Amino acid sequence: MKPVPFNYLCAYSLGEALHHLRNSEDTKVIAGGQSLMPMLNFRVVQPSLLVDISKLVELDFIRQESDEISIGALTRHSTVANSELVKKDLPVMHEALKHVAHLAIRNRGTIGGSLSHADPAAEYPMLSLLLDAKIYCESLDEKRVIPAKEFFAGSLSTVLAEDEILTQIRFPKIGSNTGWAFEEFAQRDGDFALVAVGILVDKSADGQIENVRIGMMGVGETALRLNSLEATLNRQPYSDGLLEEVIRGLSVLLSPNADLHASSEYRLYLAGQLLKRTFKAAWNMASTKK
Ligand SMILES: Cc1cc2nc3c(=O)[nH]c(=O)nc-3n(C[C@H](O)[C@H](O)[C@H](O)COP(=O)(O)OP(=O)(O)OC[C@H]3O[C@@H](n4cnc5c(N)ncnc54)[C@H](O)[C@@H]3O)c2cc1C
Repeated sequence: MKPVPFNYLCAYSLGEALHHLRNSEDTKVIAGGQSLMPMLNFRVVQPSLLVDISKLVELDFIRQESDEISIGALTRHSTVANSELVKKDLPVMHEALKHVAHLAIRNRGTIGGSLSHADPAAEYPMLSLLLDAKIYCESLDEKRVIPAKEFFAGSLSTVLAEDEILTQIRFPKIGSNTGWAFEEFAQRDGDFALVAVGILVDKSADGQIENVRIGMMGVGETALRLNSLEATLNRQPYSDGLLEEVIRGLSVLLSPNADLHASSEYRLYLAGQLLKRTFKAAWNMASTKK
């Protein structure tokens, strides 16, 4: 299919883009176009105006801001994946990005586009929850900072207002003693995940599980942070029995949608297996670093 006709404007400054969003009806910004173009072609969205923000070089950066890594909204997936800063300070993101789509898509798609698109099976939304990211947005008259846990409103839906642009995302650096792991199951290399799990964990001085964070995607309407499982694990000595108890708890917490790729039961099974594998890998890493 082809999109319905639309007008197109290319913005050369953030102010210009925000002005068009404020002053035109039914407007959408386009960044890398890797999610929006298919949606236009399928006529899932039918904006009357597209504002192209891909020339806003001021939103294309990765930099260190004290104990955070700040990534501009227009930074391409491949730039983030190849960044030495990300590899050093956000290694779980470096690992997860190996699973994002195919090279051509990674060379065009942007982190801001992925977060704004809010696919429940996309890596960045889950990483933003796992890493307690802060999402910076701007409209003509307001700048606001939204914690990732308040950003996603549902499948393909966020709290961004229609006249707002996501400008940057800040991720606290991962501590040097923290163990981490990311595991994903997809049907083919580059496909969206059926399920993926990311974990960060510390080992306390007396050998207990500490500061564990569990992120999951593909099992709900949005990516998830599993706070109640984290509470069960924290301040406990590690044992296989404890991990099994946590995995059994998944069936109470999650009711994944069935679709043409997998049944609900299969996604739940994958969630348990990936959680087990990921937790063990992260815990072993934390134990080695101690
Ligand atoms: C075949 C295929 C496989 C894929 N596989 C994966 C995968 O495995 N994992 C994964 O994470 N993704 C995957 N993707 C999606 C890809 O990562 C997209 O690049 C990403 O979802 C959107 O980024 P974009 O820059 O292309 O955004 P666009 O397509 O330009 O925009 C997407 C949406 O975000 C809005 N938007 C974009 N930028 C901003 C901004 N700065 N502020 C406010 N709103 C904004 C747009 O208006 C639109 O609604 C896949 C895509 C395809 C086509």
